[in-house]
Amino acid sequence: MNLHRLYSIGLCAAVCLSLSGCANKSEKPNDVRDIVTPSVSEENSKITQSAPNDAVNSAGNISAGTAQNSSVSEINSESGQVPSSSSASSAVSSTSSNSAESSEHEHSYTANTVEPTCETQGYTVYTCSCGNRYTDNFTDALGHSYTQSVVNPTCTNGGYTLNECTRCGTKTMDNYTEALGHSYSKGETVAPTCTASGYTTYVCKNCGFSYNDDYTGATGHAWGNWSVVTEATATSTGKRQCECTRCGEIRTETIARLSDSGNFADEVVTLVNAERTKQGIAPLTARNDLNEYAQLRSTEIVSNFAHERPDGASPLDYVMSLSGVMRSGENIAWGQSTPEEVMNAWMNSDGHRKNILNPDFTLIGVGCFESNGRKYWTQIFAGN
Ligand SMILES: [Zn+2]
Ligand SMILES: [Zn+2]
Ligand SMILES: [Zn+2]
Ligand SMILES: [Zn+2]
Repeated sequence: MNLHRLYSIGLCAAVCLSLSGCANKSEKPNDVRDIVTPSVSEENSKITQSAPNDAVNSAGNISAGTAQNSSVSEINSESGQVPSSSSASSAVSSTSSNSAESSEHEHSYTANTVEPTCETQGYTVYTCSCGNRYTDNFTDALGHSYTQSVVNPTCTNGGYTLNECTRCGTKTMDNYTEALGHSYSKGETVAPTCTASGYTTYVCKNCGFSYNDDYTGATGHAWGNWSVVTEATATSTGKRQCECTRCGEIRTETIARLSDSGNFADEVVTLVNAERTKQGIAPLTARNDLNEYAQLRSTEIVSNFAHERPDGASPLDYVMSLSGVMRSGENIAWGQSTPEEVMNAWMNSDGHRKNILNPDFTLIGVGCFESNGRKYWTQIFAGN
């Protein structure tokens, strides 16, 4: 019914427009007629002849909704207004296109359904081959379908709950918890050694992470006494060593070649007794242990020319520990190259001469050690 009404109006508009402004002159039917009459071609004269007034009236009747369509259409075509009529028709359709097109065919829609997702709506698009389309059948978004997995915190990493959508794979995390931190307990304690620090290891009970702390310094070696491995001779060096009583490490030193020191020592004893004899004092007896000690002292005074052992003790302490010794003395010298030279130097020095001529001494040991071309001399005196 609506379609029919609109259709009628459309025709009416077409007629009005073809009459070039009927609205303005609708109040003057005569004017309308005047316009129609000149526009009708000569060929169509019989139409105007047959019913010029009817024609005009028919037009007016049609607009009023009466059924005289055929007459109207004839007027349109015969008045040469078909092109303008169609343009008028299109003008009408542009103001009411759907309705106008609806008149042309029954839409045949093809449905194209878009499924809903976790986050977007579903819907169906209906499309007609004419291009007409509309959207309908909306469905709600599905929402995510999460499965949860709990990740526990560790010493160094926080924990959380992982939500993963089984449909779309979207992942979110929540329920964060802080890292636990390490939980240490005291582990192995390593004692210091001669050369390495001691320490205690602390181990995390949960993850096994460990660190060392409570360091104690290395103790340093505890050297024992020197022992001669190879005696030095006049033609070859000797070797002596001592061992750390804690770690067993062995320190080795070379004993210098004796060169002529053996003979020199004997010559010094001879010269000492010659001086004593001159003064009417009993000669001294050379004793082997005193000779060895005097030789050791000659090596020691190379680096420390003093009446002092490397450990700071008096050199006479050792002498006094020997059997039968109640008193003792020591002379040292360096730089003299012969027994005569060194005896000359000592005899010209009061303190040294007193030792050489001391009547309370009965034993002597002499050492001579050469280092860097210089000779280091030692006399050890002892008495009981
Ligand atoms: Zn259609
Ligand atoms: Zn999802
Ligand atoms: Zn840990
Ligand atoms: Zn050691």
